[in-house]
Amino acid sequence: MKLNDKAHFGFGAKAFIGLLEARAADGNYALRNLSIDDPKRLTLRIGSSGSPADVSLSEEMAYLRAGDMLRLNPQTNDIRVLYRGSSRHNFLFLTERCNSRCLMCSQPPRSIDDSYLADDILRMIPWMAKDTRELGITGGEPTLLHDRLTALLGAVKEHLPSTALHMLSNGRLFSYLRYAERVAEAKPADFMVGVPLYADTASAHDFVVQASGAFEETLFGLLNLARVGVRVELRMVVHRHTYARLPQFAQFVARNLPFVDQVVIMGLELMGYARSNLDSLWIDPVEYQDELERCVHHLDQAGLNVFIYNHQLCLLRPSLRRFAKKSISDWKNIYLPECDGCTLKTECGGFFASATLRHSSHIHSIR
Ligand code: SF4
Repeated sequence: MKLNDKAHFGFGAKAFIGLLEARAADGNYALRNLSIDDPKRLTLRIGSSGSPADVSLSEEMAYLRAGDMLRLNPQTNDIRVLYRGSSRHNFLFLTERCNSRCLMCSQPPRSIDDSYLADDILRMIPWMAKDTRELGITGGEPTLLHDRLTALLGAVKEHLPSTALHMLSNGRLFSYLRYAERVAEAKPADFMVGVPLYADTASAHDFVVQASGAFEETLFGLLNLARVGVRVELRMVVHRHTYARLPQFAQFVARNLPFVDQVVIMGLELMGYARSNLDSLWIDPVEYQDELERCVHHLDQAGLNVFIYNHQLCLLRPSLRRFAKKSISDWKNIYLPECDGCTLKTECGGFFASATLRHSSHIHSIR
């Protein structure tokens, strides 16, 4: 999350990672600078009440609590909330770089030196709550970080031994067995890699990821991860270029990749490239219910764990609803006025906030 003009600093300094510590009687927080060793504590005020402080944040940041971590930049007055102790949806954003260019990427890659992101995360991990249930690693492509990635996995293993860690990766670099082995050696106990596979054919998959040879590399990567004992989740995103082969995709996975822990069939998030390619990608989910039903039931009957993410229950055929999960992170999850009074609302995952741009014309409350 990036928030401009929400912060004011009473000093000049380079950007740093700040940890909110205990709140004092005057309402201000102590702020520990994690980017330098053994610093003097700063003070942080939220809103207009409280004493003058080194850092002042606007009232909209009042949801912050002791234990949360921010990246603060006194030179630009920017802050980013990087970790919230009370959230189940904390993602460690490792890099903007990627070796693929997926048509619907919600976080378009940039070829820049952003190694500071991994450095920041390595500084944060020892201060995260020991009872953090889940963490995600995302990007960009985290495997491009090589030693920094294995260092990060090792840090989670050391400091957060009971945390479930889920990493999104296109899996291509795991076609190098030695890399898969190094990740397996470094990983914490509860670790899973989510790898996208968009089709059962190389031509269709490589077109979606805009990278020749990616299908073969990803398959070798999946086989290597299984060989070294890393758990794998397969991710298929449904759009106009992938929906037609959902049944063949299911047959391919059941026959060739039966070792995966779970298969997730996902709806689009309309951000990044998905937004700029929207007219080419968009298909109303009601139009692919036949293909989705055949896919999901084939995987289920083959004994695989299969889930549907980012789909609204009123669009899914009744036989598919039991596979749907509430999958959208709390901070970008919305419901529409059509949802008022819907009896399925508590079970339905709703929409990404970006669905205000376009969503199915068949949304209807179920009574
Ligand atoms: S009306 Fe809204 S809450 Fe009800 S199933 Fe549809 S999307 Fe979900």
